[in-house]
Amino acid sequence: MDELQDMYDAEHRILKALPKLAKAATCEKLKAAFLKHLAETEQQVTKLEQVFQAFDEKPKARKCKATVGLLEEGDEIASDNKGEPTINAALISAGQKVEHYEIASYGCLLEWAGILGNTKAANLIREILAQEKAANETLTELGKQSANREAMGEDKEKTADDETADQAPAKSRTGARASSPARKRTAALTR
Ligand code: FE
Ligand code: ZN
Ligand code: FE
Repeated sequence: MDELQDMYDAEHRILKALPKLAKAATCEKLKAAFLKHLAETEQQVTKLEQVFQAFDEKPKARKCKATVGLLEEGDEIASDNKGEPTINAALISAGQKVEHYEIASYGCLLEWAGILGNTKAANLIREILAQEKAANETLTELGKQSANREAMGEDKEKTADDETADQAPAKSRTGARASSPARKRTAALTR
């Protein structure tokens, strides 16, 4: 019940954070992914209320310190990378940390609901867990598709192979490299 209350609090906080993440994203696909997960998170709050009900308990929130911390870091990451080509990659990393926390939490809750023999609760938690896993997958895909290379100052339409063959002007290759100091990432803006 403590863990359920923790996640009920966490979802409410995530509900407030997702519109900010969507606003900070400059990639339209990433924006859309955050907004889609916002709609799912609204459903999750209702589903958690049904889980409480399945245990004959009233919905109650218990401050989730981990989510507070993860979202604080997310805010920091968003402002540190504002206006930089790294912004979308940074937001993806912040988002994935939250999804992973949720996946771990709902994985445990699902197991415990099963052990307690509460099938109704287990089914609801399984639905939430599937949404968290799908949200995490989407973020992984968006990172691989474009955001990570965009952060390196490379054209997001190009594949790694195109990059080697391509004889693009040097100015398009001035992005930060993995080995260069983080400060140099601003160089990517010159392309
Ligand atoms: Fe959630
Ligand atoms: Zn928590
Ligand atoms: Fe989530």
